[in-house]
Amino acid sequence: MAKNRLIAILPGDGIGPEVTEQAVRVIECINAKHDTGFEIKTEPVGGTAYDIHGTPLPDSTLELAKSADAILLGAVGGPKWEAIERQHRPERALLGLRSELQLFSNLRPAILFPELASASTLKREVVSGLDIMIVRELTGGIYFGGPRGIEGEPGDRKGFNTLVYTESEVQRIAHSAFQVAMQRGKRLCSVDKANVLEVSELWREVVTAVGNSYPEVELSHMYVDNACMQLVRAPKQFDVIVTGNMFGDILSDAASMLTGSIGMLPSASLDSNGKGMYEPVHGSAPDIAGQGIANPLATILSVAMMFRSTFHEAALAGIIESAVQSALAAGLRTADIVSDGETAVSTQEMGDAVIDRIG
Ligand code: NAD
Repeated sequence: MAKNRLIAILPGDGIGPEVTEQAVRVIECINAKHDTGFEIKTEPVGGTAYDIHGTPLPDSTLELAKSADAILLGAVGGPKWEAIERQHRPERALLGLRSELQLFSNLRPAILFPELASASTLKREVVSGLDIMIVRELTGGIYFGGPRGIEGEPGDRKGFNTLVYTESEVQRIAHSAFQVAMQRGKRLCSVDKANVLEVSELWREVVTAVGNSYPEVELSHMYVDNACMQLVRAPKQFDVIVTGNMFGDILSDAASMLTGSIGMLPSASLDSNGKGMYEPVHGSAPDIAGQGIANPLATILSVAMMFRSTFHEAALAGIIESAVQSALAAGLRTADIVSDGETAVSTQEMGDAVIDRIG
């Protein structure tokens, strides 16, 4: 029985349209084979939208994003728009979407398919089969706290920011992280700096209290400096990590780089109802845009995340992830993940390979 579920597609700039095209083909293939009835509508965003409408986030795009059940975004930005006024820069569209849609929970998996273990700078046995999820609070903490600024006379100025979290902000990100842990290995590590910061003391207390509602999840706490060390020493010890905005910014970049392949990593930003914006971690890659060689797998894996997190379709998500794994196991590689002596396939050919395996 088909259900109507609206997915907003915002292809964006550079390789964004190239990789989202393949992800849309995957959704259409799932619709055809599983009668899932996902509806797709597309609007421009970023520099492409600026060229048409004079703004990177036109009303029509924001309205579609608000009315949709989930959003798939390609990437925004590029040299063409670097000189325009700050408020019209493509990246502003991302901030606008996050704040308008209250997307406070950022999920960044670091997954390393065993077939690509040689892409990492770490030893194969340390990272092969890595599968961790970092849940980062995205709309609070030091990036948004006040007061902030630079004050005083030249030579005697001070710069200051405020790291602040309310109990309700910590509660909602903690619930989000526990729910993610419930869908995975049921282990959650909360990362803070409670030995130095009062805000972290509160964070730890609130996360522990929320944990009482999830007795099946094993909760641990770790200081952020130790977490950095553990991530590069033995990253496979983690299942889900939850942390604040700034610590999450740093840890999620470190974790994603463990995998060595930016073209492979999806991400999600969720609101409190599970609605989400899904996008590859990478940017618009202007250096390879228009050549048909970008890796579409991060965007295709973002669709899998969407099916699991927003539509609660874990089986469909698994079908997509298995198809990706099977394409890699068959030796298909785009230029960014190809090894010496192997032949790279195009964006379209990688899309074809995944679709062929969705059966
Ligand atoms: P980038 O991620 O676009 O590219 C970094 C390198 O990785 C490049 O060499 C690129 O060719 C390669 N790469 C990235 N994605 C790839 C893929 N799918 N397949 C193959 N190779 C891939 O980062 P950048 O060069 O720092 O930024 C380029 C533009 O993207 C900038 O305008 C930046 O602001 C923007 N950006 C946007 C987002 C977003 O939309 N969420 C995120 C990061 C950067």
